[in-house]
Amino acid sequence: MAVDSFDLVVIGGGSAGLVAARAAAALGARVALLDKERLGGECLWTGCVPSKALIASATAAHQARNLEAFGLSGHLAPVDLGAVMDRVQSVIQAVYRGEDAEAMRKQGITVRFGEVRFRSSHVLTVDGQPLRGRAFLLCTGSSPAVPDIDGLQGSGYLTNETIFSLRELPAHLIVAGGGPVGVELAQAFRRLGSAVTVLAGERGLLLREDDEVRRAVGDLFTHEGITARQSRLVGVGRGNAGVEVHYAGEGGEGSLQGDRLLLALGRRPNVAGLGLEQAGVRYDPKQGITIDAYLRTSAPHILACGDVTGPYQFTHAAGFQAAAAVRNALFPRFRSKAHLEPMPWTTFTDPEVARVGLTEAEARRGHRKVLVLRAEFAHTDRALAEGQTDGFVKLIVTPWRGRILGGHIVGPRAGELIQEVTLAMRQGLGVRALADTIHVYPTLSMAVQQAALGFYPQWPLYRLARRPLRALAHRVR
Ligand SMILES: Cc1cc2nc3c(=O)[nH]c(=O)nc-3n(C[C@H](O)[C@H](O)[C@H](O)COP(=O)(O)OP(=O)(O)OC[C@H]3O[C@@H](n4cnc5c(N)ncnc54)[C@H](O)[C@@H]3O)c2cc1C
Repeated sequence: MAVDSFDLVVIGGGSAGLVAARAAAALGARVALLDKERLGGECLWTGCVPSKALIASATAAHQARNLEAFGLSGHLAPVDLGAVMDRVQSVIQAVYRGEDAEAMRKQGITVRFGEVRFRSSHVLTVDGQPLRGRAFLLCTGSSPAVPDIDGLQGSGYLTNETIFSLRELPAHLIVAGGGPVGVELAQAFRRLGSAVTVLAGERGLLLREDDEVRRAVGDLFTHEGITARQSRLVGVGRGNAGVEVHYAGEGGEGSLQGDRLLLALGRRPNVAGLGLEQAGVRYDPKQGITIDAYLRTSAPHILACGDVTGPYQFTHAAGFQAAAAVRNALFPRFRSKAHLEPMPWTTFTDPEVARVGLTEAEARRGHRKVLVLRAEFAHTDRALAEGQTDGFVKLIVTPWRGRILGGHIVGPRAGELIQEVTLAMRQGLGVRALADTIHVYPTLSMAVQQAALGFYPQWPLYRLARRPLRALAHRVR
């Protein structure tokens, strides 16, 4: 039987796989894109896109309940979750139109669906049909982690794979997990009208964020009536309303009843069933596929990127790695490292929470002295005009050169604002570049500039020069 041969075989048609297949085809390579079911991946069907669409409805509901603050009146009828989810699905379909199999084939990409399994290091099968590749790229992503907890199986728990199919608003949603997924969905359901309890785990909400940021999110949750417990889920049973969950940990132990339980307890890499052993690809069932700085697995012509490799499980990380992986797979002699730092990310609560680089605690551990520069949105004219004054910009910089070590923003459009800080860090521009760049008035980005301007009064050089400069000014006068 003649076996189809390709320059690059991409396995998994999600965020990473789509970028990779398009980039390789644009370079003129013969590319196959394989997926077990459909193109789009987690981000499109059950991740970023539906969650952001749901959050948009929740934000609209919140604004409708607070019209008086804008000098308006009116009231919000009880939320019809079915209608909200219909909108979520229509957003998914609008995005999907640009990345379905037909759109890929038009770009010269061979698309196949079915069970993918390596038979040797250069041959795999798709539903039994063999296919040969000069290079391979594994982009199979991750799935929700479901821990082995008493009573969980059979409890009808939800994950991000099922929650966007709900049609009835839960009266009380219990969210197990205080990471970005749990926090975003907790606030969205609260704003749509559910009572929400978060079992955030022993160490609390948003573990990867700066301490000050975590406190701000804790306060926000309290203000919005979301109960967050520093306890972990230890058991599930049947309750009058639906589920009864048992929790334990620093935040106390006990039980509570709710009608739905959402699991948001992290991710597991999709490595099973691919025959990675036959291909000589090393992996860990929990950590995923092991790669080097060039994104090569233990079989150098097989590369991997995205969630299946960690450590940054974001669509933008997957896309960035995918572009680098294509270059390294097709032109191995000219390979280059995929530099992921600094990696920005955002949790899309309202206000948003964005981070790039080190937290203050991390920076203080690694540097003898750091300066912390802040600006409050309560003093930013645009934020005042829009009634979105919660939050702050916090920059952590070195004292002499003003090298930016980290940026943290809690506030309106923090996900957009963090880009400026990321650009400065990536290009090695110090904080003075942010301070000395003209920012449009009145924009939210002025909060970033205000924080950066705080560098000058603390700059040791400025302090040294201040006295002679003052004396000179007196003399000139
Ligand atoms: C609720 C939620 C919200 C999120 N929000 C954001 C956000 O706002 N911003 C952000 O940057 N990230 C967000 N993420 C993370 C983001 O979705 C992932 O980081 C991203 O999708 C990873 O891309 P990937 O290509 O590695 O995997 P995926 O996009 O999941 O693609 C993997 C593909 O591989 C296929 N596949 C799996 N196993 C096999 C197999 N054995 N054989 C063949 N094909 C296979 C799958 O069908 C899928 O199409 C969110 C995640 C969740 C769960």
